[in-house]
Amino acid sequence: MYCGKKNAVLTMKIKFQDREHEFYVCSRDCEVKSRQYLKKADKNASRFVGGVILVVIILVPLEALLGGPLTMIFVPLGLLMLIYPFTSRETLLFLGAKRATILARTIGITLIVISIIEIIIRLLC
Ligand SMILES: [Zn+2]
Repeated sequence: MYCGKKNAVLTMKIKFQDREHEFYVCSRDCEVKSRQYLKKADKNASRFVGGVILVVIILVPLEALLGGPLTMIFVPLGLLMLIYPFTSRETLLFLGAKRATILARTIGITLIVISIIEIIIRLLC
């Protein structure tokens, strides 16, 4: 689960998102890391969702009202993804926790980089 290896043979049971789940792990070390990851993800998922909801109900209408910049939405979302790099359960099972974390952080950084480019373009125009 953590490293995303497909030949994982051991299983572990863990409560995640209020449900009992069974994950495949390749070693005991992998199990420990998976448990740590899921515990953290479980704890922070509501904060991430709360942050996204705040962006959607406050910043999206404000951005539409002001006619931009997109930076107002992209920077908070990017920061949220950097601080809470947790993906969906499906992504987690497909990629493994390690790569899913890298993916989430990459998306976060991309959003921030797009924002910086947008600011530079606006300053030049
Ligand atoms: Zn593993």
